[in-house]
Amino acid sequence: MSDRYCVFGNPIGHSKSPAIHARFAAQTGQNLLYEARLAPLDGFATAVREFAAAGGKGANVTVPFKEEAFRLCDRLSDRARRAGAVNTLQFGEDGVLGDNTDGAGLLRDIEHNLGVKLEGKRVALLGAGGAARGALAPLLAARPQSLAIANITVAKAEELAAGVADLGAVAAGGFAELAGGRFDVVINATSASLSGDTLPLPEGLFAPGALAYDMMYGPGETLFMEQARQLGAGRCADGLGMLVEQAAEAFVLWRGVRPQTATVLAELRALLAAA
Ligand code: NDP
Repeated sequence: MSDRYCVFGNPIGHSKSPAIHARFAAQTGQNLLYEARLAPLDGFATAVREFAAAGGKGANVTVPFKEEAFRLCDRLSDRARRAGAVNTLQFGEDGVLGDNTDGAGLLRDIEHNLGVKLEGKRVALLGAGGAARGALAPLLAARPQSLAIANITVAKAEELAAGVADLGAVAAGGFAELAGGRFDVVINATSASLSGDTLPLPEGLFAPGALAYDMMYGPGETLFMEQARQLGAGRCADGLGMLVEQAAEAFVLWRGVRPQTATVLAELRALLAAA
């Protein structure tokens, strides 16, 4: 019997997670089945309990259930507690363990796949929602020279910065305050592109050769990548690598073996382009 895993979300039809984990399993010789499961908006906890009771070993959690997943766990990893959200569940005899692998996935994509070390760099994080919250502690652990977080709703940026004050200094403000900052790495963790909105990015945001990283991804360049290029970013990347790397982190937790991500990322990129 294969061990069973799934991803819960609503909607879930377009999830790439089953394709990613099927490739990881084949590559590492792990006997598992991974499926996408639509959870009702008012029935996430029940769906999780039923899956675990039926023998499910673990699950990923995506929009809009990450905060609810955080609340239903019996135990939390430090990084999940920091993030206030859970994207990975592991079911065991001692209950449900919640983890958050999004921030680690982001860091691995930037530092390992793209080869941009954050130590000593000036980093800006745009947005103060769930994805930004999960990224903050891992970003600080990479020892940047400075970290600034900007959000339309400034109070949310300030709240996030205060939440990691014990780990390091984070400057919080609006987008205008980033003007002239000359950041080496600018990470878009807003959902502006989803609604087709451009961000109020100020002049002088990018240092020469800077990396513009969009957590969003799509078949071509995202709106943020286009905008960043026009403002002088040296290099642009989308969040497909983050998606694959957060999945790899979950796979490590569940199976104790780290899959190779480069080929899976390349295959996924080709699938996305052909869709
Ligand atoms: P949330 O809904 O929690 O947060 C949304 C953020 O975007 C808030 O800071 C909000 O600002 C800001 N925002 C929304 N619309 C606009 C706009 N028009 N202009 C400027 N700012 C705007 O979303 P998440 O944090 O969960 O997700 C953010 C992005 O990250 C999404 O695109 C998501 O797809 C992506 N993501 C990618 C992952 C990956 O693996 N690649 C993993 C997780 C997320 P305000 O607070 O002022 O409303």
